[in-house]
Amino acid sequence: MRDWLSHRAVVSPDATALITADSSTSTDMRAETETTNTRASVTYSALNETVDQVAARLATLGVGHGSHVGLLMSNRPEAVWLIHATMRLGAVVVPLSTEQTLSELAPRVERADLDLLVCERETEPIAVDCSVPVSSVDDGNVSLMDSPAADESAADPEWKPTDPLVMLYTSGTTGQPKLVVLTVRNVFTSAVASADRLGVLPTDRWCSPLALHHMGGIAPVYRAVIDGTGLILAPTDPKPLLNALSQHEATGVSIVPVLLERLLSVGTLPDSLRVVLLGGAPASNELIEHCGDRGVPLHPTYGMTEAASQIATARPSEATANPGTVGRPLFMTTVTIIDDDGYPLPPNERGEIVVSGPTIMKQYYRDSKATGDAFCAHGFRTGDIGYLDEDDRLWVDGRAGDRIVTGGKTVDPSEVANVLCDHPEIADAAVVGLPDAEWGECVGALLEQTDQDSSVDAATIESYCRARLASHKLPRVVTFGAIPRTESGTIDREVVRARLDVART
Ligand code: ATP
Ligand code: MG
Repeated sequence: MRDWLSHRAVVSPDATALITADSSTSTDMRAETETTNTRASVTYSALNETVDQVAARLATLGVGHGSHVGLLMSNRPEAVWLIHATMRLGAVVVPLSTEQTLSELAPRVERADLDLLVCERETEPIAVDCSVPVSSVDDGNVSLMDSPAADESAADPEWKPTDPLVMLYTSGTTGQPKLVVLTVRNVFTSAVASADRLGVLPTDRWCSPLALHHMGGIAPVYRAVIDGTGLILAPTDPKPLLNALSQHEATGVSIVPVLLERLLSVGTLPDSLRVVLLGGAPASNELIEHCGDRGVPLHPTYGMTEAASQIATARPSEATANPGTVGRPLFMTTVTIIDDDGYPLPPNERGEIVVSGPTIMKQYYRDSKATGDAFCAHGFRTGDIGYLDEDDRLWVDGRAGDRIVTGGKTVDPSEVANVLCDHPEIADAAVVGLPDAEWGECVGALLEQTDQDSSVDAATIESYCRARLASHKLPRVVTFGAIPRTESGTIDREVVRARLDVART
């Protein structure tokens, strides 16, 4: 297999490849760029030529087969060029978060064994303090774009399906982020299985507002080329994102629940959208119902970095008819639910979600212990709890480590959070276990009010819950405030626990 973009440029040279709101950053492609007031778009043929030049420049910096190239930049065209250029050279790309401090970034750069770190103007000061060669896509002392191209066109190696293509850090919700190695086969089969579930039209334009160091952010970059569809690079701020979706007539968007809620609070999604792929964290039933009422083509999905993104995805009618399900596993993916002893469970019984299939990662980079611990006889252990119903639909409760055990009884935090969110004055809820001398753990809840002037208090919440939940599930410690979330939209449970600890004392 050669790199996907070179094939695509032959098969669909004139199809739109990349659409950005601003043409000024795309200097190399200006000649081939069709510019309107708000849109700059390039064809696959033009993108391919640009990527050739970028690959040749990377080659002069020593990047070749098996090199590790870090990306420390925002969602801009150059990042897309580099993702394809590294594949063209047979190198492994390692997108990194631009939000990190030097003390967070430096060990991640080191752990990934980078040969080169490519940055932009904003990230250059921090990049140059990491102990690796650095090059910037912007003007300056270490500009990649000014470096001469190699005399000969860049090597175009053949890829074996098992070759590593991209390495991504997990979000670090349950501890230190793990460095996931994804192969050509992982990413390719994920694209095929996703297209099978979501459908692909030649006119599709997928919008990728999620950061490229997240699986949900980078997957659309590869998928656009595999499917021959357009990729829209858009900002994450709700208003500009909504504008980008409308102006560029997006047909698909990958999004996390917090961002979707923000989007819906500032306006209406355009009619052009046929897929809103919602994942990364559980979506509340309220959000699903709200989308159903407004005709939002919601596809709730369950996925993770180690599975190269989607594992199961529901279609809109399925999501509305069964609020809370993430649908059936994707084509080629098998989900097994196992009990605490590792034995498969029948439908409707809760246990750990285990996944197998060609999208599952090869390994955690240079961590054979973590890799070994992550796999069992049935596949990759997700660490999430859920069940398959009799129609093979998956329901995800949450992380195994988040389950609360109080007085010997298990409480699913998402069940309590859903009940709390049904209260008209509660917009969002985070439910965690707190250490308790008598019961081992007790239930704590941080609640975000719909209205800051709301008069709802702990006593009201207690009587509300008493009518709806068994006594061991009742929140014993309640406080009010904004729900802290990680970048990928998951609840930051450590911060929630700290706030509840303060409320308790
Ligand atoms: P780490 O593995 O470092 O703790 P992480 O698991 O948050 O971080 P990701 O790979 O970005 O890193 O996220 C995958 C996780 O997100 C899943 O294991 C699951 O817990 C959660 N998740 C994803 N989609 C859903 C969903 N639809 N419903 C509930 N949880 C989801
Ligand atoms: Mg994880």
